[in-house]
Amino acid sequence: PEFVEAKETRRADVTYDDIGGLGNAVDQVREMVELPLRHPELFQRLGIDPPKGVILHGPPGTGKTLLAKAVANESEASFFSIAGPEIMGSHYGESEQRLRDIFQEAGRRAPSIIFIDEIDSIAPKRSEARGETERRIVAQLLTLMDGLEPRQNVVVIAATNRVDALDEALRRPGRFDREIVIGVPDQDGRREVLAIHTRGMPLSDDVDLDALARTTYGFVGADISALAREAAIDAVRRMLPRINLREGIPPEVLEELRVTRADFDNA
Ligand code: ATP
Repeated sequence: PEFVEAKETRRADVTYDDIGGLGNAVDQVREMVELPLRHPELFQRLGIDPPKGVILHGPPGTGKTLLAKAVANESEASFFSIAGPEIMGSHYGESEQRLRDIFQEAGRRAPSIIFIDEIDSIAPKRSEARGETERRIVAQLLTLMDGLEPRQNVVVIAATNRVDALDEALRRPGRFDREIVIGVPDQDGRREVLAIHTRGMPLSDDVDLDALARTTYGFVGADISALAREAAIDAVRRMLPRINLREGIPPEVLEELRVTRADFDNA
C-alpha cells in the first residue's frame, strides 16, 4: 500500500495493534471502510452502495489520524492525507485544484482512502463566519464526493472535534453520512495505550502499568505517548553520569538501562 501526503509517497505501517482503547470504533471502521474496500462484490451482490464518507469525531490526540492510517494499511489501500488548514492555498483556485488532483490520483490508485484532518476548519456551518475561499473549497469537495462512483473504491474519512459545527450539506446521504465517535479513553483504554507505547521499552519491575492507568485520568492517547517518551528520556538522563559521550556506551550500561517508576513520576 502507498501512503501519500500531498504529493509525497511513503508507507503507512500503522496497524490495528498500534491503537489502544478505541474498542468499538476499530470494529466500526473495519465494517464501514475495510470491508467494502476489500470486498466490493458483497455490496454489489446486495445492490447497495458502500459508504463514501465517514466522519471520525472526537477530541484532539485520541487517535483519529492513527485509525485512518491503520485502516488504509490493513485494507491495503493507498492513503492520501489532507490537512484542513493547509489545503487553503493562497492563490485563487489553488486549493480546489489540489483537491481535484488528490481525488483523481486516489481514483487511479484505488482502492484508496482520502483522509481530511480538521475538516471543520474548511467546512464550518454557513451561519458561522466563513470566507469566500472556504465556500469554494466546500463546494468543490461536495462536487468531488458526489462524483465518486461506488465502483471506484475510494472512501473519504474526515476527522473533526466539532461535528456540530460542520456544514449540514456535508452530512447528507451519499456524503459524510456515517459517524464514528472516538472518545477519551477510560482506565482500561489507558492501560491498553500504555502497553502499546511501552512495548519496546525495557521496564523495571517497579513500573505498574495498572497503577499508571489509574492515575492518568483525562489523558488521551497523545498524552500517554508523550508520557512514555518523557519517562524513557528521563531514564537516559539518569545514565548520563556513567557515559563518556565521546566514547562508545559500555554494553553493560546499555544492558542495565531500564525505565523505572521514578522516571514515570518525573515525566
Ligand atoms: P488530532 O485531532 O490532534 O489530529 P488525532 O485524534 O488525529 O488528533 P493522532 O494524531 O492519531 O490523534 O494521535 C497522535 C499520537 O498519539 C499518535 O501518533 C499516537 O502515538 C498517539 N495516540 C493517540 N491516540 C492513540 C490511541 N488510541 N492508541 C495509541 N496511541 C495513540
